[in-house]
Amino acid sequence: MNVMFKKFHLILLLIFALPLSACGDGDPVENPSKPETETPTNPSIPQVQSKDGKHEVRQTAKKGNGINLIFMGDGYTDKDIEAGTYDKDMNRFIEHTFALEPMKSLRDYFNVAVVYVASKNNSLDGNSGIKTSINDSAEQFYHTAEQVAEQESIIDKYAAAVKDGNSKTNTIYGVIANTQKSAGITHTPGRASGKCDDFRAYSLVTKYNEYGYDEKITWIHEFVGHAFGKLDDEYGWKDSDTQSLQNYKTFLEVAHRAGWSLNVSASAQVGESPWADLVEHYKGENLGCYHGGNSWNTCNGAAVDLYNPSWDNFNDVYYNSSSIMGNTYASNVKFNAPCRRALYNLIIKLGEGREATLQEFLNFDSAQK
Ligand SMILES: [Zn+2]
Repeated sequence: MNVMFKKFHLILLLIFALPLSACGDGDPVENPSKPETETPTNPSIPQVQSKDGKHEVRQTAKKGNGINLIFMGDGYTDKDIEAGTYDKDMNRFIEHTFALEPMKSLRDYFNVAVVYVASKNNSLDGNSGIKTSINDSAEQFYHTAEQVAEQESIIDKYAAAVKDGNSKTNTIYGVIANTQKSAGITHTPGRASGKCDDFRAYSLVTKYNEYGYDEKITWIHEFVGHAFGKLDDEYGWKDSDTQSLQNYKTFLEVAHRAGWSLNVSASAQVGESPWADLVEHYKGENLGCYHGGNSWNTCNGAAVDLYNPSWDNFNDVYYNSSSIMGNTYASNVKFNAPCRRALYNLIIKLGEGREATLQEFLNFDSAQK
């Protein structure tokens, strides 16, 4: 399998579409004239009452204002929901979400809800509840910008059942696709606009190697890193053109002011990077400015002048990195110090409505080791 295409993390330029999908709202209307003694015409067929559109709160924040994480599944039928498969998968991915620091120690700041989405069958061929489409051979999601916009409007509609489920300031969405094929992607409208003006983000990840590290690491990378932390890819494996690189550098200026993309820098000088103040405190992590970011290691064939804190993608392959934003092919990767700080600061900002200090983060972070 060509690893270049195995996991294809792509932030698409999106245009919001008006909500246009209708989803089931649960219980059928009772008929008061229906005789109570009536039995199904074929009693051997179990009558499954759809939970489509229903939701369950799995965790309520014990600290702060509550940051909303909303989970859904796609490609699950009513019978999968009835049999407990849906719940089992959602619960496993909820645990993945809080597996690594700093999420592990800050779990109490989050609200967690599961929304039930019933599909007609298990085929992820573009006709499931959230219209996911996965290719048979290349194992990646195949969605046009229009299809992504439609998926987001469907997710928004289902999420509306949850308190603050459509908040543009503190809510993100995670969708688990019911297939063993491997794929993961995150869409962030506030990034597509270039303005960082909408916090919502949508991750879509498959449950491949069901109980192995693959789904777990990919999920944390996509959902915690990209969707929640607004962190960027530190790995680089492909070539950029000059205009794309310049567009990204322009975005980085806005992003850094907003507290987004704090693990990529356009400067080779570590003193000018977002992690400048962390270097002396994390000598063991060898923080620096290493070539590679936003999936590029080169631009027109030369080393790209984008830098990440942990690994040189130009002189070595990215899958030797120990950073989960730079490598999803190992089981022992974790968030590096700049990512942990970005996540910590974000949780304190959304949860407590204040800016965390450097010393506060250092104290927190050293206590987890
Ligand atoms: Zn990524």
